Amino acid sequence: MAPATVGKCCVCATETTQRCSKCSEGVDHHGTASATYYCNKDCQKADFKHHKSVCHDANARKQLYRGAALLQEAFYIFRRTVFVYPISDVRRKNGELHIEVPLFPTGPSPLYPFPEHLVPAESDQHAVLAYSACLDAVGYMHQLAKKVFQGILSPLSVCLQERDFHLKEEHRKVVRCRADGTEERNTFAHTVLLVTLRNDDVYVVDLAGAQFGQHRPVMLFPTYLTQYVSMVWSCREFGHEARVQQEVLDGKHNHVLPNVFDFKASMIEKAVIDALDGAVCQWQTEEGMSVAELLNGKQSAFESGKRSLLNICKDKMHGHIQSRECLIAREREIDNKGGIGVQAKEKMKIDAYPEHMHAFIQTRLWLTTEAHRLGWV
Ligand SMILES: [Zn+2]
Ligand SMILES: [Zn+2]
Repeated sequence: MAPATVGKCCVCATETTQRCSKCSEGVDHHGTASATYYCNKDCQKADFKHHKSVCHDANARKQLYRGAALLQEAFYIFRRTVFVYPISDVRRKNGELHIEVPLFPTGPSPLYPFPEHLVPAESDQHAVLAYSACLDAVGYMHQLAKKVFQGILSPLSVCLQERDFHLKEEHRKVVRCRADGTEERNTFAHTVLLVTLRNDDVYVVDLAGAQFGQHRPVMLFPTYLTQYVSMVWSCREFGHEARVQQEVLDGKHNHVLPNVFDFKASMIEKAVIDALDGAVCQWQTEEGMSVAELLNGKQSAFESGKRSLLNICKDKMHGHIQSRECLIAREREIDNKGGIGVQAKEKMKIDAYPEHMHAFIQTRLWLTTEAHRLGWV
């Protein structure tokens, strides 16, 4: 038993400071601390059979809440490192953030610095980082998610799903607009992970929900359904999106990225995610501890471990971006010579898009070859 704040013995209701040491940092469905108190060993013994599953569930939820928070922080760092929108202005309108983004960026690199000065509040920054990024969150964070959930769920294939919803429009926080103020409200589905714990409780892990004002990385599914969902859409197995992303980059998937810049951005994003996954493996080796073990540790050890893990991830991702600056310069050279630059700009005219589809796919395939040649993928 571990010393703690005062609670009531769950058997005889006597006030006590003693609680079950195994689940002293366990949480309830909503992620709130939920220790089980016993006034003495006899009461603890009397409750043993019943408490066994209570204890297990409280710890599983602790790991789920910690793991989802870790995933979301890592995702925000990743998005900040490879930010793909050249936002020229942010306006607040009717409680929404209207971000002004040119329809087709024309810079030499598909990456832009995150516009901190335009969105000073942290919650707004998260909303912008999460904008149109739910598939990235599910796909790119797959390897880390696997490590996070390995310790809680078995088998992963049964307990995890990728699930699409339409979220209620009233929650929309970020709207993309053009310089003339025209709004572009996408009506794409919002993709999240659905996690089923051993006791059959279902949770939503939503790393990119901030664009809908939903900032929590994890939430009990029925609550999420009532508060945010307007329509339940499709469902796929865990790992589906990561596979599609890879197939698109390999030119093996029917899905065509809408423009050359998106393709280039995807290549860089994938390479940066590989750097992140490499950093996680390095951290595990150096610390002699798995991510799952980190999530199960004592609160203070978890906090410091999480910081060191996220720092190494950040360093590796930034290091990768820096090391590719020479490659980006090389790309600019190709652009200037009228290589992909002219072709790409021609094909990116929105009116001409359908008739250029075929040529566009050719460009994409050419880019794949070029990317391999430059060592990007
Ligand atoms: Zn008691
Ligand atoms: Zn316990």
